[in-house]
Amino acid sequence: MKKIGIVYGGKSAEHEVSLMTAKAVIAALDFSKYVVTPIYITLDGEWVCGETLQAPVEDAESLRFAGTGQKDSIEQFVTLASNKTSRFDVVFPVLHGPNGEDGTIQGLFEMMNLPYVGNGVLASSAGMDKVVMKQLFHQAGLKQVPYLYSIHSQYEGNKAAFLDACEQELTYPLFVKPANLGSSVGITKAKNRAELEKAIDFAFTYDRKIVVEQGIVAREIELSVLGNDEPTVSIAGEVLPTKDFYDYSAKYVDGTTNYAIPAEISEAELHDLQQAAIAAFKILDGSGLVRADFFLTDSGEVYINEVNTLPGFTPISMYPKLWIASGKTYSQVVEELIQLGLERFEEKQ
Ligand code: ATP
Ligand code: MG
Ligand code: MG
Ligand code: MG
Repeated sequence: MKKIGIVYGGKSAEHEVSLMTAKAVIAALDFSKYVVTPIYITLDGEWVCGETLQAPVEDAESLRFAGTGQKDSIEQFVTLASNKTSRFDVVFPVLHGPNGEDGTIQGLFEMMNLPYVGNGVLASSAGMDKVVMKQLFHQAGLKQVPYLYSIHSQYEGNKAAFLDACEQELTYPLFVKPANLGSSVGITKAKNRAELEKAIDFAFTYDRKIVVEQGIVAREIELSVLGNDEPTVSIAGEVLPTKDFYDYSAKYVDGTTNYAIPAEISEAELHDLQQAAIAAFKILDGSGLVRADFFLTDSGEVYINEVNTLPGFTPISMYPKLWIASGKTYSQVVEELIQLGLERFEEKQ
C-alpha cells in the first residue's frame, strides 16, 4: 500500500474548483493500492489533515473540514509528513491559482523531500505569472497577442500614461487580467477607456500586477500535455462559449459553455497546435501535466494564450476529457500522473 496525501482547497479564488477536483481524483484512486489522506487548506490558509479515507467521498462538500482553530496547523501536515511511519509516499496537490499552482507548495514539498504530482517549482511559478509566461513563450518563438502590463505601485500616479499607452499600442476590445490567477477570475473585457480604467482597478483587487491584452477574434482550442522529459500531447478540444467570453460562470456556474472534442480543425492546424503545446511545455521545463490554451484564427494562425500547470481536473474538465477521447480512462490519467511524479523524484535522488 502506498500512502498518498491529496492537498486541496487553498487560499485562492479557485478554492471551490479545487474541492470538485479533489473529490474526482480521490474517486479515481484504487483504494486497494493507496491509503488516502485528505488534506484541506481552508480559505484562510489554515491546514487541516483529515482522517484516512476508507472509500471515496460522496460529495465535495464533505471535503470541507471545519478548521481546528490552530493558526499554524500547517505544522500538523509537516509533522505527519516528516514522521517515518506516517510519511506520504506521494502527495497530489489539487490546488488551482496562487498558493498551489504557483510553485509555493511545490517548494514546501521539495524542502520536505516529498515526491509530488505535477509541475515543479519553476514551471509552476513561471506558468502562473502571465507576464513571465509570455516572455518565455516569446523566447520559444510562439505567437501571442500584443499586450502591456503594469504593477500597482507604478500605475498609481501614472494612470493616464498607462491608459494612453494601451490605447496607442493596442486596439479595443482589450482583456484585462490579474497576472497571477485563473478560472477567469478578475478578467474583464473592456471596449473603451472608461471600461478599461474600471477593469484595471478590478484586476488590481486580485494582484499587484496586471496584464492588458489585445482582444482577438478566434476559436479557442485547448490541448493536454502529459509526461516529463518526453511529453505526449493529446488531440485538440474546442471551447464554445455561448456568451461574450469564457468567464468564471461560463466555466463553472451556468453550464452555458459547449465543448467540441475533437475540435473540427485541419490536420495542419492540429499539427501546429500540437507542436506549440509541446514547445510551451518544454520552455517552462514542465513535468506531469499542462493544459495549453490557444486562439486559432480563421486563416489558421495559432496564438498561444496561456498554459495551466494544474488545470481543472474533474471528469468533465477539458484536461482529462482530451485524454479520455484518446482512449485512456480518467483513473489511468490520475495513475500516470502519480507515476510521473514518482519517476521525477527518483531521477533527482
Ligand atoms: P484558466 O486558467 O481557467 O484557463 P485564466 O483565468 O488563466 O483561465 P485566460 O485563459 O487567460 O484566463 O482567459 C480567460 C478567457 O478569456 C479565455 O478563455 C477567452 O475566452 C477570453 N480571453 C482571454 N484573453 C483573450 C484575448 N486576448 N482575446 C480574446 N479573448 C480572450
Ligand atoms: Mg489560466
Ligand atoms: Mg488556470
Ligand atoms: Mg485559460
